[in-house]
Amino acid sequence: MTQAGMTQANHGRGERQCTATRKTTGARCGNSPILGGTVCRYHGGGAPQVKARARERLLAMVDPALTELSRLLRKSKLDPVRMAAVKDVLDRAGFRPIEEVDVTISNIISTLQARIRRIDGPDDNLEV
Ligand SMILES: [Zn+2]
Repeated sequence: MTQAGMTQANHGRGERQCTATRKTTGARCGNSPILGGTVCRYHGGGAPQVKARARERLLAMVDPALTELSRLLRKSKLDPVRMAAVKDVLDRAGFRPIEEVDVTISNIISTLQARIRRIDGPDDNLEV
């Protein structure tokens, strides 16, 4: 990566960066490109043909990625590499650990009722 490519802290960690440059300063754009693309949505990444090409590039990488993942799973002698490959395969096959979010509706309702009372004043007929 060039020095200009590391203008923002997060890009110094290997994250991708839009390849466009600003017209006024010539500095490289600091935004992340669209997935599978090279430019951000402000520099053409939102155009239908650019999005379609980005999707084609991503889809073209699926088979080689699966082949490599399969090879790592079968051949790697490094446990962390094999473990990552196993997790990837299981995640993509739908065997991902369930992440539960405990949302208590009654708390949300009482919070909303309190906000409504602050705005409108007390109302005994307020029921949700
Ligand atoms: Zn950009």
